[in-house]
Amino acid sequence: MRNLIARFATLLFVALFSITLHASDHDTGTPDSKSATKDALRNKKSSDTDDVDTKLKNKSASRSAAAQREKDDKAADELAEKIALKVAEIRKENEKLKPPAPIYRATRRPSSYSLPQNKTTISAMSSGARMPGELLSQSVHQIHWSYEGEGGPANWAKIDPANAKCDIGMRQSPIDIRDGIHVDLEPIQFDYKPTRFNVVDNGHSIQVNLAAGNSITLSGVRYDLVQFHFHKPSEERVNGRVYEMVAHLVHKSSEGKLAVIAVLLEPGKSNELIQTIWNDLPLEKNEPAQPTGTIDINQLLPTSKLYFTYMGSLTTPPCTEGVLWMVFKQALEITQEQINIFSRLYPRNARPIQNTFDRLIKESN
Ligand SMILES: [Zn+2]
Repeated sequence: MRNLIARFATLLFVALFSITLHASDHDTGTPDSKSATKDALRNKKSSDTDDVDTKLKNKSASRSAAAQREKDDKAADELAEKIALKVAEIRKENEKLKPPAPIYRATRRPSSYSLPQNKTTISAMSSGARMPGELLSQSVHQIHWSYEGEGGPANWAKIDPANAKCDIGMRQSPIDIRDGIHVDLEPIQFDYKPTRFNVVDNGHSIQVNLAAGNSITLSGVRYDLVQFHFHKPSEERVNGRVYEMVAHLVHKSSEGKLAVIAVLLEPGKSNELIQTIWNDLPLEKNEPAQPTGTIDINQLLPTSKLYFTYMGSLTTPPCTEGVLWMVFKQALEITQEQINIFSRLYPRNARPIQNTFDRLIKESN
């Protein structure tokens, strides 16, 4: 009997140890835990066997050691069964107590630079109507994507499954542009003209939405300029160099293909177009300022139109790929004061550099 008590104590110890060891392992099912406990008990039993046998012989020569062992085995098995059930019970309790996994629930998809919204904007503008407030509030969700904290770039894919590409995409932007092959790149044909516009602070950047009429043509495909916006510092790098700011001119073909032109901005002389936009900055987020005049986007292009080109993505959620990027080699000058004004609103709104995954980069000779 003393042996049984001693064994019971051992079994209890093994069981408690097993519970402690697996307390946080919520993926292990009950059947596994039961068999694991039994295995542990059997191992313990076999290592004890010789010792138990000797003690039994010394106590009573008439008692059959084999019969006693069989009895002990049975008792041990029953005990193991009970302990396994108890372990399963305790695990279930642990599972109930476990705090729920943090889930960033987005009530609506992020839509800051999304084109459908801009399309509506443009049609609203051309009909002379004011931008409907409901459309702009579409970017409201419980956890906003942002450039820092829990909504930051590392969590974009977690905030909304629609943003999966931000994590798993292999053609993501921005990148550090280097080792491009030097070729005679086809010049981009610009057809920009003075245009009506509105300025929106969409919570991620200052965005200028444009009425129809501006386009570029490349390889016979026409892409219409929909909007442009700014990042500070520049998202793209060129041979590791970061610029003060960048303007992204977002174009879309009739087939829905996106082409973005990046204009790197550096401190220097004043830029009239930038000043006009800053003059018309809206006082409230998501409340577009609708100036009466027009802007000429040619003023946002550098003198030299040589460029780098590669295939990438949107640099904001949902990080859609298949975007044709063209980055001007020559930066455009704006004043430090003009940079400082943007910085007051957005001191840092740039997605980190992404892996190039050996993408081909071409650059104009
Ligand atoms: Zn951008």
